[in-house]
Amino acid sequence: MPCEAGHRFLILYGSQKGQAQSIAEGVAEEAGEHGLVAELCCLSQAEKYHLERGNTPVVFVVSTTGDGEPPDNALHFVRKIKKKNLPSDYYKHLHYALLALGDTNYANFCNSGKTIDKRLQELGAKHFYATGHADDGVGLELVVDPWLEGLWHAIEGAISNMASNGDAVDRGDPARGSPDLPSPDLKLNLLSLADSQTSDSTGASANSALKSTAADLTSASDPRAPSPVPSTGLTARSGGVAGIFTSVPDARAGGDGDKNTALEASLTCSASPLSESPLNVPALPPLYLDVTLHGDGSEKMNASLSTEKFKEVPISRAVQLTRGDSVKTALLLELDITAHPEMAYEPGDSFDVLCPNRASEAEDVLHRLGLWDQRNQRVQISLRKDTRKKGAQLPSYIPENITLQYLLTWGLELRSVPKKAFLRALVEYTSDGAHKRRLQELCSKQGAADYNLYIRDPALALLDLLSAFPSCAPPLSLLVEHLPKLQTRPYSTASSSLNDPGVLRFVFNVLEFPTCSGRPAGRQGLCTGWLSDLVGPVLVHPGNTPVSSGGHALPKIFINMRPNCSFHAPADPAVPFIMVGPGTGVAPFIGFLQQREKEKQDNPDQVFGETWLFFGCRHKDRDYLFREELEGFVSSGSLTHLEVCFSRDGRGDGTTDRSGPRYVQHNLLLHSRRIAELLLQQSACLYVCGDAKNMAKDVNDSLIEMIKAELHVDQLDAMKKLAALREEKRYLQDIWG
Ligand code: FAD
Repeated sequence: MPCEAGHRFLILYGSQKGQAQSIAEGVAEEAGEHGLVAELCCLSQAEKYHLERGNTPVVFVVSTTGDGEPPDNALHFVRKIKKKNLPSDYYKHLHYALLALGDTNYANFCNSGKTIDKRLQELGAKHFYATGHADDGVGLELVVDPWLEGLWHAIEGAISNMASNGDAVDRGDPARGSPDLPSPDLKLNLLSLADSQTSDSTGASANSALKSTAADLTSASDPRAPSPVPSTGLTARSGGVAGIFTSVPDARAGGDGDKNTALEASLTCSASPLSESPLNVPALPPLYLDVTLHGDGSEKMNASLSTEKFKEVPISRAVQLTRGDSVKTALLLELDITAHPEMAYEPGDSFDVLCPNRASEAEDVLHRLGLWDQRNQRVQISLRKDTRKKGAQLPSYIPENITLQYLLTWGLELRSVPKKAFLRALVEYTSDGAHKRRLQELCSKQGAADYNLYIRDPALALLDLLSAFPSCAPPLSLLVEHLPKLQTRPYSTASSSLNDPGVLRFVFNVLEFPTCSGRPAGRQGLCTGWLSDLVGPVLVHPGNTPVSSGGHALPKIFINMRPNCSFHAPADPAVPFIMVGPGTGVAPFIGFLQQREKEKQDNPDQVFGETWLFFGCRHKDRDYLFREELEGFVSSGSLTHLEVCFSRDGRGDGTTDRSGPRYVQHNLLLHSRRIAELLLQQSACLYVCGDAKNMAKDVNDSLIEMIKAELHVDQLDAMKKLAALREEKRYLQDIWG
């Protein structure tokens, strides 16, 4: 039903890295095209919105962070709605839609959105549109795009109903099985096992509403969708390959072969049918910042850091834990925190490391933007007076009076994967027709697969695009508008301050990004590569005796402790616990076990529960991290069961027999009876930590199998049992990808 101009609705977002915010902003910007007025607020701006009045529909866009937690700017809201004393009709006037963002690589998929959804339902609020659960693991847009397409119709319906029937009109609630709830058309059923494990009744019903429409998708036929960009007519002369692109020099083609006969798609070159297709590109994001350069700026390092509570600490020791021929290089760094007693931590806590962009990359950007000579000038940022962007704000994380060089070194995440809106904006600053078309393809609906294949999956960054599309020359303001704040990198502590006061250790793999179309040379992860370079001169290699720093000043880094309320060993030492941590995932457990060792020494009469560690690596003799220390824990009884498997070795007895356990989850299943007994009858806690994206899911699946077998229950009951363990905080994960 068409909607009268001026009808309002509220959009609330909770966003950690800017994804949810940018989706919410996109909704606000598009509202006008549908004759609607959108009011956009962050969930943290409680003074600006009033859910208690409830005279307009509300759209929530909420991401999930950490172990299923709400983003920082949604924490207060979640705490508020979770208050037990709120009456069950507190939000009965509220009509809302919710888009939850998450990643199925993590077991608590979309947990923050689900928590809000569930609680709003408990407080009487009603859906006017089925909840969307978008999965960053496969591409948010698979759910986000159809969800947004259907949203407008649903808002119009909600407004009409609220107007004609008063605020309390219920359009139908998926949780109650109403057949008339508008639902988005979905290309894929993205529900994961992890999703259903943690979903509540609301989530499950909403999900089934999504599922039921999964098969219905017709091609994008929404008349209100942005108008298609016609094919240039220069493409696809023959053989289904984009003719125009064969003549475009692919400066970054790497191993793609002869550029004149480039017959395969790559970052810069599309193939049929995409090359011939009309394109639906996103609306051009409105410009909203003016960035000017003046006089001389100052290095604002200390000023900006002190506000973020970062402390500079020396690296007192750096050890390479893996042999030179290992696939990954794992380093252990020891920090001297004696000067900072406030940095007390418990094993299981993590902390943030502040790392700069690579100097060479900041310099490349300066050259590419033609701003090298102005690098020491002061950056001044203001809002454009004529901007059409709703809720436009100055980026609060950029301090005043900084130099351009500082901005590009410490302010913006140059390595972030450019979002489609950024690609769309870059089109406007690209002069070559073929480059323009390819950028349009990469941000278009039709080019979604190419975007994933050539940009998202290989994690390309802005500089890769600027090199691949030499005619693209964006202004500095566009970078400030589209690049997120430089993110700090969290690391888990791998030590116990009880055992070793004043010391904090951590372990990481130096990430290696291989070459690909668009990245002719491999590179290292930003923070891990930087740390590795930093400690290079003082690094102790395996088998070498530690030496003094040999005259090298100890390198220092800025860190800040992150509070973690739940990933800690049980407070009661008699409670058994099981740790699953392959590779660098063993880090927090080294802290747990050091603490246990110390507690055992200090309290010889205390009863201590069983401790199990499931560890895994590729090769026993190359990357068995902390081998001696772990074996020492076994000898002292701090670790009662050490179960190790080697995924690329034989069984450890020199044979190549592959029938033995290969991964941690296989080993877990070998001990299923005892583990199930500990978990289900002896109130044990189970911890999973690691950097392997699939590991957490595989372990989760194994646990379900284990519960099914041991309790003789079906899949659903086993999943419920596991969800209950999670609720009781006896099944905890600390996973990074
Ligand atoms: P970046 O340059 O930021 O690159 C990382 C990104 O690239 C990731 O999104 C990843 O998915 C992607 N990526 C990685 N390899 C490839 C590839 N080959 N192709 C395409 N994309 C790729 N890490 C540890 O090593 N040890 C820890 O103890 C630890 N603890 C953590 C605790 C928490 C609570 C969290 C959230 C993370 C933790 N991490 C830990 C991860 C750590 O914060 C960093 O993400 C990691 O070290 C990589 O940082 P980087 O800057 O080197 O990589």
